[in-house]
Amino acid sequence: MSNAYDLVVIGAGSGGVRAARMAAGFGARVAVIEEYRVGGTCVIRGCVPKKLFVYASRFSDLFEIAPTFGWTVDASFDWPTLVANKDKEIARLESAYVAALEKPGVEIIRDRGVIRGPNTVHLVSEGRDLEARHILIATGGKPYVPAIPGHELGITSNEAFHLKTLPHSILIEGGGYVALEFATIFSGLGVKTTVLYRGDRILRGFDEDIRVALEAGMQLRGIDFIYDCTIQKLEKAGEDVSVTYSSGVVAPYGAVMFATGRTPNVTGLGLETVGVSLTDRGAIAVDARSQTSCPSIYAVGDVTGRAALTPVAIREGSAFAETVFNDNPTEVDHSQIATAVFSEPEVGVIGLTEADAVAAHGDVDVYVARFRPMINTLSDRSERMVMKLVTLADGGRVIGCHILGPGAAELVQLVAVPMAMKADKADFDRAIAVHPTAAEELVTFKSPSIRYRKGEKV
Ligand code: NDP
Repeated sequence: MSNAYDLVVIGAGSGGVRAARMAAGFGARVAVIEEYRVGGTCVIRGCVPKKLFVYASRFSDLFEIAPTFGWTVDASFDWPTLVANKDKEIARLESAYVAALEKPGVEIIRDRGVIRGPNTVHLVSEGRDLEARHILIATGGKPYVPAIPGHELGITSNEAFHLKTLPHSILIEGGGYVALEFATIFSGLGVKTTVLYRGDRILRGFDEDIRVALEAGMQLRGIDFIYDCTIQKLEKAGEDVSVTYSSGVVAPYGAVMFATGRTPNVTGLGLETVGVSLTDRGAIAVDARSQTSCPSIYAVGDVTGRAALTPVAIREGSAFAETVFNDNPTEVDHSQIATAVFSEPEVGVIGLTEADAVAAHGDVDVYVARFRPMINTLSDRSERMVMKLVTLADGGRVIGCHILGPGAAELVQLVAVPMAMKADKADFDRAIAVHPTAAEELVTFKSPSIRYRKGEKV
């Protein structure tokens, strides 16, 4: 078979697979090169297995309040069963991804691809070159681990999915998505969990009310937080890992996990040979249509450092295919992306935080509701759900929505629709509530809890 393709994609993750499938559907001859498993971080060691683990961890919360609804539960948990069932589901999804590529005729090449020229990709194991009219880099990212002594004794999210046994305790460094989701998982499964963060409050960049309420909710579930601190050194201590904090304190843990961010996978791709520029954060620099500084080479997804989210990578892959193979120039709007943290309590957010809205617009109204979710009302659980709308002044456009509590991720996905339509507060008000729900709060806010005019609280 000829080595000439219209498109060679490096990386079979969310962005690469979508671009390849669509380009093939538009009639292009396409090959995807993948050195690991088809599906990428999201399917193989990210969103999907993580959410399955989150579901597993949430049973403990339900078991705790079950007696208030009359149930007696004698529960026990088996980690190997969860891991095995998760692996089975991931294998099923991987097969579905392979089938979805093969159906429109995409050729899957199991190898490592290195760029040798603007239109040439070298297959490392096979030792041959592919010629490509266009090359798409969709190689994603990998966990970043600080280069401290003993760092190899720690794990990252990659290894967390395959632990042979659950540790008795875990220290998780980081205050972002991965740290808080895995803290939720481990704690919910009975592991004594501590989050250690270099800042003074988790989820930097999120709305302050959400940050405060999430920390309280996680503390309620027994998770400890250590702030203004980093890990300085790890050492083996029998079966445990001995951790030296930057404060000088030394403590043993059953396991240590680094959730200190992710870095784009650009190493060894041959980018320097074709002059593909990087951003100052080491991601591939692209324009609004995902084209790199080498015109025949494009990049989508986490490797571009725009928004490291699966649905964004999929949109970018799809826009690339429309632009290059369907004569339909398409750009992705990255300005307002709904996102969720699958912690417990769960977080769903979109748009501007209160602080950012005030800084950007000056005249802003903020509507906040804090209430006990109905599922907790029979127990003595005091935890509050938080619903917050940030609008331009006097019933103007809704520019932010921040939710914490049961179903927050599902709720914010739907709020993203009116916000994409540039809805005003009055549009929300026109909707009649569904009762009894938590979401009804979003359409029944009467007067603002806080008003800002010219950037000042009034
Ligand atoms: P994040 O950027 O969310 O968090 C990284 C955390 O590590 C931050 O708290 C950061 O601190 C801290 N940190 C960074 N460098 C160091 C260091 N050298 N020493 C100590 N602490 C450090 O990254 P994640 O890996 O959690 O997630 C990566 C991305 O993946 C997210 O941004 C998100 O886009 C995506 N993701 C999405 C999920 C979802 O949609 N539910 C789930 C998981 C990931 P600081 O805040 O001070 O910078």
